[in-house]
Amino acid sequence: MRSASPVWHPFTQHALHDGIPTIVRTEGAWLESADGRRIFDAISSWWVVTHGHRHPPIMVAIRAETERLDQVIFAGFTHPPAEALARELVAITPPELTHVFFSDSGSTSVEVALKMALGFWLHSGEDRRRILALEGAYHGDTIGGMSVGERGVFNAPYEPLLFDVGRLPFPHPGREQATLDALEAACRAYPVAALIVEPLILGAGGMLIYQPAVLAEMARIGRHHGVLLIADEVMTGWGRTGTLFACEQAGIAPDIACYSKGLTGGVMPLAVTLCGDAIFDAHYAHDRRKTFFHSSSYTANPIACAAALANVKVWQSEPVMQRIAALAAVHAKALDRFRGDKRFSNIRQLGTIAALDLVVPDAGYLADIGPRLYRHFLARDLLVRPLGSTIYLMPPYCSTEAEIGRVYDAIAAIDL
Ligand code: PMP
Repeated sequence: MRSASPVWHPFTQHALHDGIPTIVRTEGAWLESADGRRIFDAISSWWVVTHGHRHPPIMVAIRAETERLDQVIFAGFTHPPAEALARELVAITPPELTHVFFSDSGSTSVEVALKMALGFWLHSGEDRRRILALEGAYHGDTIGGMSVGERGVFNAPYEPLLFDVGRLPFPHPGREQATLDALEAACRAYPVAALIVEPLILGAGGMLIYQPAVLAEMARIGRHHGVLLIADEVMTGWGRTGTLFACEQAGIAPDIACYSKGLTGGVMPLAVTLCGDAIFDAHYAHDRRKTFFHSSSYTANPIACAAALANVKVWQSEPVMQRIAALAAVHAKALDRFRGDKRFSNIRQLGTIAALDLVVPDAGYLADIGPRLYRHFLARDLLVRPLGSTIYLMPPYCSTEAEIGRVYDAIAAIDL
């Protein structure tokens, strides 16, 4: 039956979805619905909420900022929350990253990164246009993000809009050399502008993990050939993988880095793309054609910047790393119970992210199993959105062992 609501929801097949819950309140790791249900948010509301919903210091900062500023044009003007945030971001990321470009979603931060890379090469007078990306990658749903992402059912209708990229095989454990060889071969075959990666783990591509040493080696090969490395840390950033940023585990500094989601603690839409001096300097000229031509109306929204600044302070003043370590330990213990359980395979974990695959004949994203699993969890007041037959948990860092235990109990109860 068609819904009475005019709202068209993202990634939602309305013909198959009935009874979309109306959430009227959030707190900690919980969503509260209009009909009085309390739903445990095991995926941090699409991976954005880090500390917990409505983490108090962030909400206080937002309220305070609304007494001073709303939106301010960011072309030719600036404001204290953006300036302070940019300084903090430069301080907590590798020293090579010295400039901060604001935008408002993860997808946009990727578009900005791609444009920075192409602009850099054009303004440097070198003809490098081709982008390399990993098979299975997801970098957002805007045109550039879809282009560098895996092709398939999600973007097939929009194919005329997408540009061609070089594709490297995913470095599956034991098959890493194939990825490195493909990167080396691509760099020798044609002038590569940039390599874009989700560091250490493919998110929407199925929570597939690869080794830090492989990332370090990809960075080394790319650098040897002058290729810019774009780290899309939109999902991995802000502690998800067990360190503040995933690149830290590989000991690398990307040339361009994208952060969003947990940037504001998951409270406000905001994104940043950081780059080094060389990229900024390539655009720095009296020739106005070298201007970095990217903007959106809400660039560096002051209230969102204040939320992000408060988030950085939370990281500096609260034991966030300890919470992350505790959460990782809870996952590790809970996952153990599924080892040897024939219903599941590929039991895996990276920091606060845990995943396992349900063994089913048809495991693809469009297989019926995904929605069935979703309903299985929602019936138990748990928000879990499997990627096909891949069940994953990515809860807020405030989640307790008992809360997370409910999800693992629901996984154990799967009988489909
Ligand atoms: N890059 C990665 C790695 C992501 O996981 C996502 C979102 N899941 C995006 C980009 C796009 O971010 P947004 O949804 O905020 O546009």
